[in-house]
Order: sequence, then structure tokens, then C-alpha cells
Amino acid sequence: ESSVHHTDAVVIGAGPVGLFAIFQLGMARLRCHVVDVLDAPGGQCTALYPEKPIYDVPAFPQILGGDLIDRLLDQAKPFAPTFHLGQRVEGLARTEDDARWRLTTGTGTVIEAPVVLIAAGAGAFGPNRPPLAGLEHYEGTSIFYFVARRDSFRDQRVVIAGGGDSAVDWALSLAEVATSVSVVHRRARFRAAPESIARLHALAEAGRIDLVTPYQLHALEGADGVLSAVVVADLDGGTRRLEADRLLPFFGLATDLGPIAHWGLDLQRHQLVVDPATCATNLPGVFAVGDVASYPGKLKLILTGFAEAAAAAHAAYGVAHPGEALHFEHSTTTGVPSLSA
Ligand code: FAD
Repeated sequence: ESSVHHTDAVVIGAGPVGLFAIFQLGMARLRCHVVDVLDAPGGQCTALYPEKPIYDVPAFPQILGGDLIDRLLDQAKPFAPTFHLGQRVEGLARTEDDARWRLTTGTGTVIEAPVVLIAAGAGAFGPNRPPLAGLEHYEGTSIFYFVARRDSFRDQRVVIAGGGDSAVDWALSLAEVATSVSVVHRRARFRAAPESIARLHALAEAGRIDLVTPYQLHALEGADGVLSAVVVADLDGGTRRLEADRLLPFFGLATDLGPIAHWGLDLQRHQLVVDPATCATNLPGVFAVGDVASYPGKLKLILTGFAEAAAAAHAAYGVAHPGEALHFEHSTTTGVPSLSA
């Protein structure tokens, strides 16, 4: 993509809050482009827990992470947002005439708009990858950092690495469908919910899960992206070979704001400081919503982010239309406006 896109607002991050922001911007009659470094929309809900039920989204007593994202995409659809997925936003600067922001991505996309809405969560997150030779040859074919569909692990020999909630929860879940499940952890003790740890040990005693502790990942065996075994080593260098079709390393996510930290925005730890009334940052026309936004009493919850998206979209209207304020109306009165091309 080499041409410059022009729009009313750019949303950085297609997590749940970024997706709801598309809707709120649309209700304020602002068109938008959305950029996310991940290949699919949904942020943490898609990347980390698509099949886990969420219990505190208003009006849904229970909804799966993935289903919530599908509904947010449906709700945003009338406003026909343009998605640029698989691209990290690298640069943000004023245009030469100081009228708009110019945003650039790692793959060369350039978008100009008066409004920028940062919904970047914990940053352009990526998994902590284990330092194994040849790792990249297996990523996406035999090695995965999250479970998008549990059923794709059916009848597979699975090695899970890690000792936290993700490792333990997925061991319990995949033990129901996989041929075998081994859990490699460098300590004998796991750090997860006590009931889950108890179930893990019960399944280990029943021979359904192999607890490989204290061991660390050491090497991969296989060819052409097809894994055949994972070699693990103990602290004295003694090795064990685990036959495997799939490896799931769960070593957490790197929470790094990356380029966003270098745009001159006020930061507090790894969050952007905003005025809670409008979610405005210290840069004119730049708003921050969702997990990335910080103010006294901030709750990092999806429902909080939704309300912030509404506040930011309302204030963004005044930026895109200087001198005009958005007349407050309920959606029951306005319906869903259609944006002219
Ligand atoms: P995110 O979901 O983090 O999305 C941010 C997006 O921005 C990401 O997709 C990232 O790739 C992208 N991004 C960042 N920087 C860039 C860049 N420079 N260029 C391009 N893209 C970028 N919350 C609840 O309310 N209820 C729950 O029950 C609940 N359970 C949870 C369970 C787990 C296991 C986890 C991990 C979280 C849970 N949360 C829950 C928290 C909830 O998921 C977050 O509050 C929510 O995802 C925040 O949404 P967001 O849109 O602000 O950010």
C-alpha cells in the first residue's frame, strides 16, 4: 500500500474497545480506519481467551471472548470501517500544514486524519517466545502461543510449557481431546488457581497428563514445520525426549507499548495519561481508551473501555468539526446514521 488514506479518525488497536470505538465514532458521523498488528480483530479476547466465558459484560450473563468480538464487529459494520491488519503503527506526526495527524505502519501504509484514537491495550503485544533453535520454522504450524480452536488439538500429542494459569487451564482442557498432554515447567510448583492445580495433579495421577518438572525446553525435533519431538533438560543438563505434534509455550505476553511510547504522549508506567471526561491525551486530537488509558481509579475492564469510547467519540467530533459541538441525542432517537461516502 503506497497511497495515502484520508479519513476522519484512525483507531490504533482492534481489541474490544477499539471495535466499540468504531461504532461510537460512527454514531458521531466520523468515518474511521483501524490498524492492528495482529492478523485478526479482537485484541486480548481473540488472542488470549476466545473460548473463555466473560461474565461481566452488561446484558450478557455469559459470553465467550470470541463471540463478543463477533458481535462488536456486527455492531460496527454499518459504518464500514477500513481495517489494516497485520501491521504495527510505527509513527505518528503532524502533517506539514499542522492540520492533521499522519500515521505510518511497518508495512508502509500512511493514513491522515484529524483524530487519532489509541486503543492499544498493553501495546502491540506478542508472546514471550522461548529461545529455541529453529523455532520460527514451526510457528503457526506446530507451535502456537494461544489456542484459537480447541478442536484443532484433537488426537494430537501436545506439549505445554509454563506454570501459570494458561498452561494449567489449557492442560486441563486439552486433556479431554488430545492423545497425550505433557506439561513442562521449571519448578514442581504451579502458579494457578488452587482448584485448577488440584485437578491437574488428579489427572496426572490418573495418567491423563504427564507432569514434566523441573524441566525446561531445550530443543525441537522435526522437519518442514512438522514437529516430532520436544527435548527438555533438567537443571543438571540431563535431557528427556517428549514425542509431540504440537507445542504450546505459555510464558506470558510482553507488555511493551513499543513505538507509542515515543510519540510525546504523557505516560504513567505503561499507560497513557488522559482526562477521564474526554479521554483526551496531552496531544491535540489524540485520545486514548481501554486498557492503555490511565486516570485515577481506572478499572481495566471491557465495560469501562466501552464508556471511554463513547466519551472520546463525543469529544472527537469537536476536533473533526472545529467550532461545532455534537448535539447529544440517544440512539433510540437517531437510529444508526449512514455515513455518506
Ligand atoms: P486489547 O484487547 O489489549 O487490544 C489492543 C490491541 O491493540 C491489540 O490487538 C494489539 O495488537 C493492538 N496494538 C497495540 N499497539 C499497536 C500498534 N502500535 N500497532 C497496531 N496495533 C497495536 N475484562 C473484563 O472486563 N472481563 C473479564 O472477564 C476479563 N477476563 C480476562 C481474562 C483474561 C485471560 C485476560 C488476559 C483479560 C481479561 N479481561 C477481562 C481484560 C480485557 O480482555 C481487557 O480489558 C480488554 O481486552 C481491553 O481491551 P482493549 O481494546 O483496550 O485492548
